[in-house]
Amino acid sequence: MAHLEANVAVPEIPFDERVRLPAARTAVVVVDMQNDFAHPRGALFGEEAERAIPRIAEVVERARAAGARVVYTQDWHGEDDPEFAVWGEHARAGSWGAEIVDALAPHEGDEVIRKLRYDAFYGTPLDHRLRVLGIEELVIVGTVANICVLHTAGSAALRHYGVTLVEDAVGALDPFDQAATLRQLTFLYRGRVTRAEGLSFDAS
Ligand code: ZN
Repeated sequence: MAHLEANVAVPEIPFDERVRLPAARTAVVVVDMQNDFAHPRGALFGEEAERAIPRIAEVVERARAAGARVVYTQDWHGEDDPEFAVWGEHARAGSWGAEIVDALAPHEGDEVIRKLRYDAFYGTPLDHRLRVLGIEELVIVGTVANICVLHTAGSAALRHYGVTLVEDAVGALDPFDQAATLRQLTFLYRGRVTRAEGLSFDAS
């Protein structure tokens, strides 16, 4: 007998054509769009991450234009990080691989949070910064879907932030991982899923 069913059906996943969020209380969180994940010469390059760059740029530009905050997370590992045993060396502190890709370089006034694990809240000042800024809603984009994106989105929801995931601005390693991410996000964490074109910010 097989360990798993050969064909696993994807359950219905709620989708919002339009999501409108209050600019003053919303931050776009750009997860780990660093050379090691999103540049062809990166140590853990994923094509889907690179492909998501234009959609991420679109979301970020719209947020800035409306006055919403933009927060970047940056995977940032020391010499003997235990994650290297799992993934090999990547995002080493201060390296080219750890830099955010040129096309999405942070602007003056954006927040950049260096993170230790998949969950960008773990051991970082992210929650503190968001609360100081009066942020209640997070729009999550970036990579990798079922790893740092999902752990960060879930951790945000557990802290009572509203979470919106922009499905065409997320890099997944394969379609199963993308589906699993959207399922967890909507079913477990009660987040919303939309696409870049459906997202807008209310400036008032
Ligand atoms: Zn890492």
